[in-house]
Amino acid sequence: MTKLKCPHCGMTDVIDLLPLSTDLLWERLAEDEIKYRYYCSSCDKYFGATAYTKDGRQVIPYISGLCFYAGNYYKGFSQINFRRHYPNCCTYKICMCKDDTHEETLGRRPCGELSALIDSLYYNLFLDDWLETYNSVRSEDGTYWKLIVYIEDEEKREYSGTQEHPAYWKELMDLFQPYFDSMGRKCSPSTMK
Ligand SMILES: [Zn+2]
Repeated sequence: MTKLKCPHCGMTDVIDLLPLSTDLLWERLAEDEIKYRYYCSSCDKYFGATAYTKDGRQVIPYISGLCFYAGNYYKGFSQINFRRHYPNCCTYKICMCKDDTHEETLGRRPCGELSALIDSLYYNLFLDDWLETYNSVRSEDGTYWKLIVYIEDEEKREYSGTQEHPAYWKELMDLFQPYFDSMGRKCSPSTMK
């Protein structure tokens, strides 16, 4: 189980608002604060709202694929894709990209596994509260990462960074590392700090 911390600042002084959901609390919260599940007293921000598309659908059921890549401008990248075959199919496809033009299919897996991965990203790592970019002023060793979420009938959502990492970076790597490991890739993102 992932330890609960604030996706904005990484601190653990987090208040779960759900058990406190009395009328008094509702009266105190502004309308745009009620949608959040948690409050961080370290940085005074809310998080943990349900992710919605621009046209008002819940995001998670409409995610058609994920792409994660991490690496280094000098040493190369590892990229992994997760793609549903078509809506309501019971399997999805994992691909590994060696470069921009060559893609290697690694196999089909049951969709439940992809759903579990997506649930972890949103419910445990609070992906919807992440910044789009985590860029340090200078990326001295050229490390770079990007996570792309593909959503049906909606623009893809991208989260990326250079040396800067989100508060849940280690947890993110723990989610994807088993897939990189199963490929026996030499250039593994686990070498990134
Ligand atoms: Zn915080």
